[in-house]
Amino acid sequence: MRGINGMVIYLDNATTTLVYPEVLEMFGKTQQQFFANPDALYRLGNQAQQLINDAKKSIAQLLAIEPETIFFTSGATESNNLALQGIANAYQHRGKHIITTNIEHASVSQTLEFLAQNGFEITYLPVNEQGIVTSEQVLDAITDQTILISIMHINNEIGSIMPIAEIAQAVKEKYSQIIIHSDMAQSVGKTSIDLQQLDLATFSGHKFHAPKGIGMLYKRKTLKIKPLLYGGQQQGQIRPGTQNAPLVAAFAKAMRLALEQQEQHIEQIILLEQYIRMQLSNHPDIQVTLDGTTTSPYIIHFMIINSKTEIQTYVNALDQAGVCVSTRSACHSKEINLDNPIMTALGFIGAETRRGIRISMSGETTMEEVEQFLAILFSIMEQLKL
Ligand code: PMP
Repeated sequence: MRGINGMVIYLDNATTTLVYPEVLEMFGKTQQQFFANPDALYRLGNQAQQLINDAKKSIAQLLAIEPETIFFTSGATESNNLALQGIANAYQHRGKHIITTNIEHASVSQTLEFLAQNGFEITYLPVNEQGIVTSEQVLDAITDQTILISIMHINNEIGSIMPIAEIAQAVKEKYSQIIIHSDMAQSVGKTSIDLQQLDLATFSGHKFHAPKGIGMLYKRKTLKIKPLLYGGQQQGQIRPGTQNAPLVAAFAKAMRLALEQQEQHIEQIILLEQYIRMQLSNHPDIQVTLDGTTTSPYIIHFMIINSKTEIQTYVNALDQAGVCVSTRSACHSKEINLDNPIMTALGFIGAETRRGIRISMSGETTMEEVEQFLAILFSIMEQLKL
């Protein structure tokens, strides 16, 4: 068996997505036309700058923010580093305590580990069995030294959705000076985004069908931040370096397309999600990790149980059969013998943490693909059952 008509069934959209054809076409054209340096003081340069300004306006409208709060980066890893290091360095005179969760992406957790080596104290809030933290937990962890709270919106491995707007509201009511950041790399086009109470938020283009190599940091206007890079006047010196105007335009266009189609896609995806969950739950050798009440319908994480065969063997067999899925975040995909910290956070122990497979859909995923995937998975499980 090999996918539909020999095509790959791509169920790894939380890792990265295929660029929308319209975005790719526009990107190609604008690369030719707007190649000039946007800071050059002739018309060609001004035109490239105008492309960036228009893109910013469009993003600002889509996210209900002001254009001055938008900073383009290379992706979510850089946005998270800039947000966390930049705020820690700018506000350390107020205190050195930072609150986060124990299921953040490595670009948050490892940046915080680095800050811990430099004298910051980090509180890692444990998630509950639904993979979320609550406002009460966050409020309880605040001390007079707390300067920053960083809590992701949608977890990239298990799909849990943190009540980030509610948490931010609860914190701001009592402690307006505490700065709140959220990693929203998995959110665009998947669930509503509310930046009203947030001070900083991270986005990544390649998670919503823009090309790789572009991300964004939303930063509230009045907030100070120390840059990671020095050397130029671009982007208010917060993120210097020549900007790629066509890439910025592609990011804005993909965001618009993803948000415009969000409602319609979610309806379809929920149907697929329910079907997949039902089929997986009915299998005696599968345990679906979370029950779906607080998760993104786009991400389904499940475990293959009652089997001694390593999980990577299943993923390899799926790949051979034309199906792309992951066992964990691509940033750790090579650490197959290490315990998975996200599963550990959910209470699984040792080898149990390495039984998981994540499928992640996009608005383009079809029922035909889903049915084919399930048939291939169940047939592989039969073959590999030891
Ligand atoms: N945060 C989250 C939640 C992610 O899912 C990812 C990508 N796996 C990142 C950050 C890093 O994103 P990028 O590849 O854009 O650096």
